[in-house]
Amino acid sequence: MQNKTALVTGITGQDGAWLAKLLLEKGYTVVGAARRNSNRNLYGLKYLGIEEQVKIVDMDLLDYSNIYDVITTIKPDEIYNLAAQSFVAASFKQPLSTGMVDGMGVAYILDIVKTFLPTTKVYQASTSELYGKVVETPQKETTPFYPRSPYAVAKQYAHWMMVNYRESYNIFATCGILFNHESELRGKEFVTRKITNHVAKYSLGDKEVLRLGNLNSSRDWGYAKDYVEGMYLMMQQDNPDTFVLATGTTTTIRDFVNHAYNAINIEVKWEGDGVDEKGFDANTGEQLVMVDPQFFRPAEVELLVGDATKAKEVLGWTPKTSLDELVKIMVDHDIKLNS
Ligand code: NDP
Ligand code: GDP
Repeated sequence: MQNKTALVTGITGQDGAWLAKLLLEKGYTVVGAARRNSNRNLYGLKYLGIEEQVKIVDMDLLDYSNIYDVITTIKPDEIYNLAAQSFVAASFKQPLSTGMVDGMGVAYILDIVKTFLPTTKVYQASTSELYGKVVETPQKETTPFYPRSPYAVAKQYAHWMMVNYRESYNIFATCGILFNHESELRGKEFVTRKITNHVAKYSLGDKEVLRLGNLNSSRDWGYAKDYVEGMYLMMQQDNPDTFVLATGTTTTIRDFVNHAYNAINIEVKWEGDGVDEKGFDANTGEQLVMVDPQFFRPAEVELLVGDATKAKEVLGWTPKTSLDELVKIMVDHDIKLNS
């Protein structure tokens, strides 16, 4: 068993909860950093049965002095920086605060580590959104970035600061370029959870039509529980590096809808194009889905599909959960939650 202390930022988020659970199982002392707000949401930790085992500290990535105090007091062996304004659509509306948290917040952490705790290892949650308007398919560690949102631009700054501190100061600064990963703890504003939550309610009698944006974009979706294992493995290496975690399979939003309705034994029949496209219950003819332009983005990332060969070869990491299994986990969970 390990006898290490990990500081996990973004502990109230999806990955924070899954990672905390894994690290506790590995014997770590886990300190979870959360920004102060009036309604702290520890649902994820409660859901995974670890609320009592994670010590929570107040830490806002916007506040250098706060980060300094926390890091120099806790003196963690490993910092997993998962905190971010993580919703791409919101970053178009809040580009500046997204830049401060997702970009500058990482620079604060790095500089504190460099100056006061240079042997502490740092993990940064980089993202497949960095590939944006992709210049190569599938995308791997060497694929050039083309960010398409304020979120991705901020994450690109953070990513290169990690690489720069690694190369300039010998800091153990490792980046996981994770493709989309979902779970029953995913925020309901993200398309997968929006769909599974809607389908769950539909199966319970709420017959509202599901309104979605771009049905043609396509994502490489895995299960968050599998992906946090990759984060942990990256931090156990002798040297810092950058790794892609992905399944290697891409699925359109339309097809994700099909999978989700299939989980409640409904087949969706699609008709029309563009904003006029609609999904119907193939059996009853009832309308299930419509396109609503309010969910379109000013600039879209149309296709993401990752190549995680390096993670497989160096870390021995592979995803374990298929898309069908993931959809079923999410729909079943949402049915319980809404019942
Ligand atoms: P979530 O949105 O579920 O969690 C984000 C966390 O960041 C929350 O705990 C949130 O706290 C916290 N946070 C936001 N702003 C601040 C701030 N100013 N100071 C401190 N904490 C803050 O994201 P995920 O768990 O899904 O993702 C984890 C990380 O991985 C993020 O950095 C995300 O960008 C990145 N990522 C995620 C992918 C995915 O598919 N899930 C793919 C690739 C990268 P609060 O609860 O208070 O809002
Ligand atoms: P992202 O990959 O981090 O942006 O994760 P999201 O789940 O927010 O979006 C994934 C894709 O789904 C993007 O291409 C969105 O444009 C598309 N999408 C289509 N309809 C919706 C919707 O109603 N909500 C969200 N969040 N995304 C949608």
